[in-house]
Amino acid sequence: MKKCEYCAKEISYHEMYCCDECQDQANKFYEMREKFQKPFSVINGIFVIAIGICIFLYSFLRDVGAIGASVSLIILGIMYFFLPFPPEIMIHKYKLKKSVKITKIIAAVIFALGIIVLILYLTKVI
Ligand SMILES: [Zn+2]
Repeated sequence: MKKCEYCAKEISYHEMYCCDECQDQANKFYEMREKFQKPFSVINGIFVIAIGICIFLYSFLRDVGAIGASVSLIILGIMYFFLPFPPEIMIHKYKLKKSVKITKIIAAVIFALGIIVLILYLTKVI
């Protein structure tokens, strides 16, 4: 059975969306992704690399490593939450609505991880 590209409700073969609202929501998503894809990729690239560098630095520059990694995680978490652009493979599997929801949950986890690293650093656990 074919499914609505937005909410994954079952639809007939000649449709793409189950209703106008789903089509509107999907259009809004693709417009937003079109608009922010570039800054998203740049910021994503910078902070993913920054996390790697900070983990490396941590062994001899504890402060820079711990603060850098936690701040990078917090920034990425916030960005993924407000610009939840799931990978195509996920959209294909879960359709748009659920993929965006999963991405926001992952964003919240990354944000929380950043806060935890910061708390562990400030309380001198790490
Ligand atoms: Zn739908």
